[in-house]
Amino acid sequence: MTTLPTGTNPLVGNSYLLEFFVKPEVINALGIDFLSWVACIQHCQAADGGYCDKNLTVKVLDKGAVRLCWHHDNMESHPDELAVLANQNRMLWALERVQSQLREPQPVSLSSVLWWAVKNGVYEYLPSGLLDEVFQRKEERRWVGNGYKSTGVRYTETVHEQLERLAQPVNNTI
Ligand SMILES: [Zn+2]
Repeated sequence: MTTLPTGTNPLVGNSYLLEFFVKPEVINALGIDFLSWVACIQHCQAADGGYCDKNLTVKVLDKGAVRLCWHHDNMESHPDELAVLANQNRMLWALERVQSQLREPQPVSLSSVLWWAVKNGVYEYLPSGLLDEVFQRKEERRWVGNGYKSTGVRYTETVHEQLERLAQPVNNTI
């Protein structure tokens, strides 16, 4: 029943990235207001071939928002589908912003998003699960240092520390 705005990117369904793109610091770095972006969608996203009102509104749902006509806004049906669509809108907006800021001609890849996060100083908000995936650290843990904490747990470099270390030479060139 729902329709996506134009443009698709396989990253749209990445739940780790959705978590990242709802952090206030990340939203701030993305610039243009998300709700204004949704308000620019010129059709009711719940259109099902039946009646749609000519007046459109923006409905905030879950971690995103959808563009609905007054008729479908009042119906409040299919809340789960609308929440999925609202989150997809959030992802499309964020990925579009990243692409625009990096001036990439193609839809951005995950590594471009990481690069953008480093460039904007918000990589600390990247979910650990995402970085584990990127660095394939699920099975392998890198041990650094040789000290022991008071708990007896040996110090290990976190994924964020690893990314920060890897990003350091890049940061120095910006
Ligand atoms: Zn409608």
